[in-house]
Amino acid sequence: MINKKVFLIVDDTEINRKVLKGFWKNDSGVEILEADSAKAALEILQKRNDVSLILMDVVMPEMSGFELLAELKKSDRFSHIPVIINTQSDGHNLEERSLQLGADDFFPKPYVEEIVKRRIDNVLKKSAYDKQRLDSLTGIYNFDTFCSLTKQMMEMDMVSDFAILRFNIVRFKLINELLGRKTGDEILILLARLIKRAVGIEGTYGRLEADNFVCCMPLGKIKENTKFNNIMVTGAKELERQYSLTIQSGIYLVRDRSLPISMMCDRAGTACRNIRDNMVKQFSYYNDEEAEKELEELMLIREMVKAVKGGQFHIVLQPIFDVKTEQAVSAEALVRWKHPEKGVISPGIFVPLFEKSGLISKLDMFVCEEACRVLAKLKKDGVPICPISVNISRVDFCEPDLVKRINEMTEKYGLDKKYIKIEVTESAYTQNPQEIIQQVIDFRSQGYEVLMDDFGSGYSSLNTLRELPANILKIDMKFMNQLENSGRAASILLCIVKMSKMLGMKTVAEGVENQSQVDFLRNIGCDSIQGYFFSPPIKPMEFRNLLARQKDSNGDNGKTDKIGVLLVDDMKLARITMKDALGDEYKYFEAADGVQALEVLQKNAHEIDLIITDVVMPNMDGIALLRKIKSTPAFMEMPVVVVTANDDSSDELHALEQGAIELIHKPFDFRVVRQRIKNVLELAENEWLKKEIWDMKQREALRQMKENQKVLF
Ligand code: C2E
Ligand code: CA
Ligand code: CA
Repeated sequence: MINKKVFLIVDDTEINRKVLKGFWKNDSGVEILEADSAKAALEILQKRNDVSLILMDVVMPEMSGFELLAELKKSDRFSHIPVIINTQSDGHNLEERSLQLGADDFFPKPYVEEIVKRRIDNVLKKSAYDKQRLDSLTGIYNFDTFCSLTKQMMEMDMVSDFAILRFNIVRFKLINELLGRKTGDEILILLARLIKRAVGIEGTYGRLEADNFVCCMPLGKIKENTKFNNIMVTGAKELERQYSLTIQSGIYLVRDRSLPISMMCDRAGTACRNIRDNMVKQFSYYNDEEAEKELEELMLIREMVKAVKGGQFHIVLQPIFDVKTEQAVSAEALVRWKHPEKGVISPGIFVPLFEKSGLISKLDMFVCEEACRVLAKLKKDGVPICPISVNISRVDFCEPDLVKRINEMTEKYGLDKKYIKIEVTESAYTQNPQEIIQQVIDFRSQGYEVLMDDFGSGYSSLNTLRELPANILKIDMKFMNQLENSGRAASILLCIVKMSKMLGMKTVAEGVENQSQVDFLRNIGCDSIQGYFFSPPIKPMEFRNLLARQKDSNGDNGKTDKIGVLLVDDMKLARITMKDALGDEYKYFEAADGVQALEVLQKNAHEIDLIITDVVMPNMDGIALLRKIKSTPAFMEMPVVVVTANDDSSDELHALEQGAIELIHKPFDFRVVRQRIKNVLELAENEWLKKEIWDMKQREALRQMKENQKVLF
């Protein structure tokens, strides 16, 4: 039977109880409990927590019905149970007294079945309504009720200035863990009661969630020496002393009445968060600077949908290297927002906004699809691929169809599931452990590897490690920062790596910025490394080059070890001379004009590392070829050296403007040619530096050329 109603009849006269009980003798949906005294009633209530209504006589020996009623309404456990008083009628006195004491209704003896049942029905309906409006633990208003009451209050008083106050217990989770949930609940109930007492009928109050309480009052009633302030300050001090805790509050002075109440509460919450790590400050105001930041955020949120559709997002890939071989073995996809006015915005700023606005799953799926696209393209081009990991926001990680959506993505691009890895932050686990565990199991059973990101940043990392079936640990960056100065950080790192080995997990260290960190990590047996020291996040094209180069140096493609150079010149003699100048440490490809050069390049893309081209040629000249190469995605990173006649500075300017990396002058000076080409290739070795230095060199060369021209003309 679902939801059986349980009525408790309290009356010292047995016949009265019998008569009442008889009303429901054929109703299997109602269970009747009987008590012949107030004391017996309390005993039953201690044992049964499913009593839905109490029917109570007034005149009883030892403890009267009124005394029992007062006792119940004082109690946190029983005050929510509706009480109906029934007694011999004496005019209106008893009825009035009952209602005053908090009884929900009254009916006189002798009982009339129809009336009794009707009244009980009404009382139960009202109590269900209250249940909807109240927070079940503390009995004060829940957040929805608080919002609607506050809205009403403000609408009725257009004159007063109002303030919203948030109360928050510092590190309440920890208190819960240390003192136990029961004590935690007790503290919440005490704080709720304190706020209720302090605010009284002067304002509204409620529980937002967990240890977050909120109240709203006219400003004048909060200032010093008001009832509110006196009760709140002394009460809070007492609570803090008793349980060794700190209560902080954030205050939003309601300047903009048009805001939804929930947003006003958010603002008070922002003020509260600002002092979270400050153990001295107990309260803080939401200020204009924050308002401005919020406005900016709001604008970004508005632009987000358009930006996703409008292609303002792209991914970069940060390679992850094997600590022993120093080869890239995977990469992490990181999203970037190229805003048309604000420039590149960091994910640290916009990811939380996406999370807040519910758009994050779209963004994460976009990143996942981009990663799949890059991998599929590399595969098609014969570049050996490695897995790419994508970040899934904790907000989205428990979505029931997440695994399915990612499956669809890998299938669409014909990728084996081992090529997409899933990163989920450790902190996600502490919020809803059961769901996270299940989701990780689902991913693993489908063949995906799962990384626990930012490991060590949460406060119960060991717990997470024990329970979460992820298979790779990504050690939080903060350990790297501390490594140099803290022996403890080093010991902890060592233990983490050892422990994960025992659990059969691999480890990745994040934020590795120097050689000594690499050495340390290698020594303690960490598996792989991600960080600026080896590579920052790079464009997919650069990542491709890195993989292709790795493949080459592994010699597994049958290619000679020699560097490939494509010589483009319509004069055969010039090509021969160039070969003489460079010697036989290179492998040469040749073309007589731009058109031919493109054909050769298409066919031998994997073997050509450098192009040296003349400017003046039939069909397609050197500048046109250069322009073509620099605008073709597959070739745009290929270094191109332009050969010019010594005295033609406008050719040189052109060539540099179109992206040439270096110039060589005719007639050739063999030693200069050889050295210049060596330099160029050395630059190309270091892909990410290369781009920077090219840009710098080009800017500088262009500046100089322009200077010279100024002098010439
Ligand atoms: P994360 O997942 O911990 O990513 C690592 C961050 O550290 C990246 O910042 C990366 O650029 C940076 N980093 C890499 N090497 C070093 C180093 O040697 N030193 C230092 N100091 N930092 C290094 P980024 O790209 O700004 O991303 C920040 C955070 O934004 C990420 O932290 C991740 O939580 C989030 N994020 C980035 N892309 C996505 C995404 O596609 N989806 C979701 N949900 N979150 C993302
Ligand atoms: Ca990550
Ligand atoms: Ca991380």
